[in-house]
Amino acid sequence: MASAFEDWHEHVDEETKRQIAENESRFRRANERIEKAGIRLGAHELTYPFVCECGRPECVVVLRATLAEYERARENGRYFLCAPGHEITIDGMGAVVHREDRFVVVEKRGVAGAVAEANDPRRRSGMH
Ligand SMILES: [Zn+2]
Repeated sequence: MASAFEDWHEHVDEETKRQIAENESRFRRANERIEKAGIRLGAHELTYPFVCECGRPECVVVLRATLAEYERARENGRYFLCAPGHEITIDGMGAVVHREDRFVVVEKRGVAGAVAEANDPRRRSGMH
């Protein structure tokens, strides 16, 4: 199945970057619900299954992180939790800021970072 997402290796146009960031933000919202379920269970030492937030529309990879690890990835509106190797860092879109065996944390930059921040589920109005 052909998609615009297959040509990522060289240059990515602004619209594609925006689309990727929108996808990432959707997965991030799904993970927020997973975390809330984990908090209700109260088992903080366990790892929970979170969906990869890499932004590829076809990605269905599940990674495991503790609630504390997830919280650390959520402390910045530009951070995303991805399966190792799924980080999209080409063309200045992002950089890995934290790496574990089970996941990586990617900081989005440029237009992707701006979209990510605008969609931050933790964002409160008037907080600048
Ligand atoms: Zn992925």
